[in-house]
Amino acid sequence: MSAPARWAWAEINDRAIERNVRVLIDRVAPSALWAVVKADGYGHGAVTAARAALRGGAEGLCVALVQEGVELRRAGIDAPILLLSEQPPEQAATLVEHRLTPTVYSVRGVDALVDAGPDGLPVHVKIDTGMQRVGAHVDDATSIIEAVAAASPQLRLAGVFTHLAIADDDADPALRFTADQLDRFDLVLATLGGVGDVAIHAANSAGGLAHAAARRSLVRAGIAIYGISPGEGVDDLVAELRPAMSLRARVSFVKRVRAGTAISYGLRHTFERDTNVATVPIGYADGVPRRLGLTGGEVLIGGRRRPMVGVVTMDQLMVDIGDDDIEIGDEVVLIGEQGGESIRAEDWAARLDTIGYEIVCGVSARVPRVQRRSIDG
Ligand SMILES: *Cc1c(COP(=O)(O)O)cnc(C)c1O
Repeated sequence: MSAPARWAWAEINDRAIERNVRVLIDRVAPSALWAVVKADGYGHGAVTAARAALRGGAEGLCVALVQEGVELRRAGIDAPILLLSEQPPEQAATLVEHRLTPTVYSVRGVDALVDAGPDGLPVHVKIDTGMQRVGAHVDDATSIIEAVAAASPQLRLAGVFTHLAIADDDADPALRFTADQLDRFDLVLATLGGVGDVAIHAANSAGGLAHAAARRSLVRAGIAIYGISPGEGVDDLVAELRPAMSLRARVSFVKRVRAGTAISYGLRHTFERDTNVATVPIGYADGVPRRLGLTGGEVLIGGRRRPMVGVVTMDQLMVDIGDDDIEIGDEVVLIGEQGGESIRAEDWAARLDTIGYEIVCGVSARVPRVQRRSIDG
């Protein structure tokens, strides 16, 4: 491991991503797995994540933005890259130039692609079956699909897909909602008849893990390849996966504080007894949310859990280390393992009323990513 440039860094275990992809491919077979590496590979590094996923057997990649696809092409990645939503029309030429596979769901979107003058550009059509974010309404889906077919030979219909809104929830109403989404999807597909060699897909990580009926030609797996659970309802299905990111730092300062004094902005934590406090040089500008210091956030130092005290500041946070003998330079684990203890992104998420996705995506560019490969990875 090379020395990070500051005393806070994220270790990325790309072997864990590769292994998670293998495990997931086993689970969803015979469906293929396409790895979702948008948002800089959910904070893990898009190129690192893409290469690891392809080594693990992923057959394609998915991104949110043209610039994310271009980054992968510039790194020499040749696999198919699907853009998950329609892109601004002025990006059409760039996406054609870099052989990115667009998604469309409007006539406007189809026209913008044709105007870029492509030759046999594979295109996926997205149908909204209940998420109500983006996608052609089920009543318009067939006409959009026909518009793509009519734009041959510039465009070629290569995929039809939808997206599940609540696939991570195992309660009955959620299971019914997912089944209804798939039913609406199938009704559209039934109108297509002989569409030939078209990939049909519906499942994200949770869909692929929990809903065999959603697997279809391929599963678009994001969060699970990073070893993070999509939601509590599917926790038991991800037990075999390994987190690929660990967030670490070193103690930058240690001091003694007196009972009755308070700490950090707003003085929102008062010490009940004399204790030692360690300062850790990582803060909300790095992706440790400010309120985690007030909602039970912990770190590991010397193989033990230690509570954060006071609000997290922009660049630093404070930890109550009791009377333990901890020194400047000692390693701090914010996410990951130390001495048999572990803290996961999901633990932060539970304390912050969010999901593991937001935690890892929130680790900012200011935190150096360091490659780490451990045997147990
Ligand atoms: C982000 C995204 C995914 C991946 O979802 P995970 O829950 O991370 O597996 C799949 N499909 C679409 C359309 C997405 O936007």
